[in-house]
Amino acid sequence: MSRSPHRPLPRAAPRFAMVLLLLLPTLVGWHWSRRGWRDEHVNYPPRPSGYSQIVNVFGQPCSDAAHNVWMDWPAADNGVTYRFSFHRKLGGRGTAMVSDKGGRSTNLDNDVYGHIQDQHLSDHTKSGIWGYVCRYIAGTTKWSTHAWGIAVDVSSRYEHYPSHYHSHVNYQHAKIWKNHRWYWGKAFGDAMHFQYADSY
Ligand SMILES: [Zn+2]
Repeated sequence: MSRSPHRPLPRAAPRFAMVLLLLLPTLVGWHWSRRGWRDEHVNYPPRPSGYSQIVNVFGQPCSDAAHNVWMDWPAADNGVTYRFSFHRKLGGRGTAMVSDKGGRSTNLDNDVYGHIQDQHLSDHTKSGIWGYVCRYIAGTTKWSTHAWGIAVDVSSRYEHYPSHYHSHVNYQHAKIWKNHRWYWGKAFGDAMHFQYADSY
């Protein structure tokens, strides 16, 4: 909110404006931006489609770059703070709210996370929050997007897999991920899973 303390209010309006100013914090809540957070959108990589584009953008699975930045995400339901690592192209760049971890962009830890806080949606990020794991997709020898550090599982205790294309919790904040180039696994029956790639 911008305020100019020296600009006089119109004569007819001062009492109304005063009441509005006093009510505003309770009407809109104390957004995270009040603590200094800003949506930065710095240096997002393109979202790859399919295996060869994923390798072009993010390199080989299980590389150092796939897991050398990390973040903490407190779960709303059990009070546990989950620390997970992810690809340095998707975050770890210093901002007002994120310490510089040598990452390249502001995507995940500042922008996606910050929007979820700022819009008061953190009650809907629940326990079982995971990022990088060097592994195959279960039952296959095909690399999981988790092996590139470009996938995050959220509320996994609630979003059972296979989810039959239904979401219990994550639908509350899925739009924020989509607005930052993430693809929601609900489309293939995995509602806990958000990945920075499609057609894979
Ligand atoms: Zn996942």
